[in-house]
Amino acid sequence: MDEIQTLKQWVAESNNIVFFGGAGVSTESGIPDFRSVDGLYHQKYDYPPETILSHTFFMRKTSEFYKFYKDKLLLEGAKPNAAHLKLAELEKAGKLKAVITQNIDGLHQLAGSEEVLELHGSVQRNYCMKCHEFYDFAAIKEKVEEASKTNEPGCPDYMVPKCEKCGATIKPDVVLYEEGLDNSVLTKAVRYIANADVLIIGGTSLVVYPAAGLIDYYSGNKLVLVNLSATAQDSRADLVVRGKIGEVFSQL
Ligand code: NAD
Repeated sequence: MDEIQTLKQWVAESNNIVFFGGAGVSTESGIPDFRSVDGLYHQKYDYPPETILSHTFFMRKTSEFYKFYKDKLLLEGAKPNAAHLKLAELEKAGKLKAVITQNIDGLHQLAGSEEVLELHGSVQRNYCMKCHEFYDFAAIKEKVEEASKTNEPGCPDYMVPKCEKCGATIKPDVVLYEEGLDNSVLTKAVRYIANADVLIIGGTSLVVYPAAGLIDYYSGNKLVLVNLSATAQDSRADLVVRGKIGEVFSQL
C-alpha cells in the first residue's frame, strides 16, 4: 500500500512526531469503542451511553453508572497491541514527542510510553469524593464486586465503591460528559501539536469536543489520519491511511 510507504518515510525522516488517538487504538486489544458497528453506542442499555457517562447521571444514579462502568470500562487483562507498542518504541528512539489520548484505559503506559497526555483521565486512578483518598484499578474493581455482594440489586449502593477512610463514594478520575478537561493537560497537548512536524491521528471519529478541535492547532504539512472508517476531517489530511491501526503500525 503506497500510503503506508509514505507514512513509513515521514516517520523515518522526522524526530518530532506527535500522536493523537482515540478509542479505535484499543479495539485490537479487545476494548470496544463507541461508534463502530459493534461499539458501545450500538449495544442495548436502559439509557444511552452518553447519558450514563454524564456527571448528572453519575450523581443521581450512581449504582446504574457503576453497573455499566464495571461491564464496559473496568476491563481486566487487556494488553497493548502493535499500535501502542510501536508508539512506545518511537518515543524511546527519540522520534516521537508525545502521545495525546482520549482513551482512559492506560494501555499506552503499559506499553512503555512515558509522555502520555490523557485528555479524558484514566480508570487507573480513582478518588474518594469527600476526603480524596486514592484507589487504584484493582482496589476499585474489588470494591465494586464487594458492593454487589453486600447490597441487593435496586438498592442505591448496589455496586457503588465506598471509601475505606470516610465511607463516601469513590469516583473514577475520568472526564464525564458535562465535565471540563484539565486545562494544564489541554495546554500541553496544544503545545505539542502546534510544534509537531508530523501529526498522526488514529482510531478516533473526531467528533468529541474539545478534544477533536486539537487538530486546528497543527500548522505543518504532514497530517496523517489512520482510521478504519472515514472521519469528518479526512479532507484536511495530507495522508489518509484506511485500515486497522495495529496492522498499519506493525508495518512501520
Ligand atoms: P469513537 O468510538 O467515536 O471512534 C472510534 C473510531 O476508531 C471510529 O472512527 C472507528 O472507525 C475507528 N476504529 C475502530 N477500530 C479501529 C482500529 N482497529 N484501527 C483504526 N481505527 C479504528 O472513539 P473516540 O473518537 O475516541 O471518542 C470516543 C470517546 O470515548 C473518547 O472520548 C474516549 O474517552 C472514550 N472511550 C475510550 C475507550 C478506551 O479508553 N479504550 C473506549 C471507548 C470509549
